[in-house]
Amino acid sequence: MAFGFTYNEDQIALQKTVRKFVENEIVPVRASYDESEEFPWPEVKKMFELGLNCMNAPEKFNGMVFGNVGLCMVVEELCRGCLGIAISPIANMLASEPVLYGGTEEQWDYWYPSICEEGKLAAYAVTEPGAGSDVAGLSTTCKKDGDYYILNGTKIFITNGKHADKLTVLATHDKSKGNRAQSFFMVDTKTEGVSFGKSEHKMGMRCSETSEVILDNVKVHKKYRLGEEGDGFKLAMKAFNSSRPFIASASTGVASAAFEFARDYAKERKAFGKSIADFQAIQFMLADMAMDIEASKLLWQKAAWLLDEKLMAADLSAMSKCFAADAANRVVTNAVQILGGYGFCREYPVEKMMRDAKILQIFEGTAQIQRVIIGKSVLA
Ligand SMILES: Cc1cc2nc3c(=O)[nH]c(=O)nc-3n(C[C@H](O)[C@H](O)[C@H](O)COP(=O)(O)OP(=O)(O)OC[C@H]3O[C@@H](n4cnc5c(N)ncnc54)[C@H](O)[C@@H]3O)c2cc1C
Repeated sequence: MAFGFTYNEDQIALQKTVRKFVENEIVPVRASYDESEEFPWPEVKKMFELGLNCMNAPEKFNGMVFGNVGLCMVVEELCRGCLGIAISPIANMLASEPVLYGGTEEQWDYWYPSICEEGKLAAYAVTEPGAGSDVAGLSTTCKKDGDYYILNGTKIFITNGKHADKLTVLATHDKSKGNRAQSFFMVDTKTEGVSFGKSEHKMGMRCSETSEVILDNVKVHKKYRLGEEGDGFKLAMKAFNSSRPFIASASTGVASAAFEFARDYAKERKAFGKSIADFQAIQFMLADMAMDIEASKLLWQKAAWLLDEKLMAADLSAMSKCFAADAANRVVTNAVQILGGYGFCREYPVEKMMRDAKILQIFEGTAQIQRVIIGKSVLA
């Protein structure tokens, strides 16, 4: 039960494998994917072959082997390479959370094989044009019709979106009853009435897919509802509580890559006859960056460890996500500063890292929403 600060041997071996994969397969291609905004299918396939497609799946499907700490460690490594490429397996994990917590064994058998054995993708479809932070206010309806539900509504900003084989969709039985009247459904994207609208062009994470999902009289059997009728909001919150440490570790990955690049650059770059690393102004920036990264790492490690101990803590998950995302934004900004004019140019990777890092303060609950959660917890 004691909290350790080291990885076990298996986790260290996994970390080495993923780091090598990132250096060989992701770093060389990230800039061109960023430029083309093309979905990185070849890299997604390779991540699947490494067993990284759905690491939070039940053990029966070869997931959870390394625990949440191991899983976050892998996310951190992948995001040192490229957040846009890494977000695809991260979105699979988020989409699978309501199934993991609300699904029966039979529902697991329906959901996981396509992701874990066939390398297909999944997407978490909650956000709508009129409801992002305010999940309780969503409008997509699920109307009971015998043994079926009829889903109608539009979801936006859905990661993996049009490339997904299956969705977890949150809908309401009666909007006037707020969060008590919502249910989650597993929806096959080949079902009649499911279509995809526009794909977003984004500031960062540009090669990831962010789609609009349209549900037009989509007929879903009741066996695909997760949990009891009305369990949806609780499952959504549980999903966020357990996935926020992933985003914290993703933030730490982006920050670490930017820090290391800037540190090495500072040692090489000369100004006024010496290396810029000799200037205290640069040293202080590097010191702040190193502190931010270390603190972020400790926070996601504790949050992930609590999950592994079955002690899910909404406040710690929110703190890890909020702190690490804010910290990553400070770190990438300093990295660009340390590179001066070169930092602003696409020839160097830190400007992409700065653009990528912004989303970490927005999705899976904005920085403000995390503070709302933490504020409630400290005042309880
Ligand atoms: C690239 C990308 C990928 C995404 N992937 C997914 C996905 O896979 N699945 C999915 O369901 N969604 C996804 N989202 C949606 C994302 O989770 C939402 O954008 C986010 O939760 C914020 O919601 P919103 O955009 O509607 O902003 P709003 O909720 O409109 O917020 C606007 C501003 O108001 C602030 N605000 C709102 N409410 C409060 C409050 N109570 N107190 C203080 N401040 C508040 C916010 O912090 C923010 O600054 C994605 C978004 C993007 C951009």
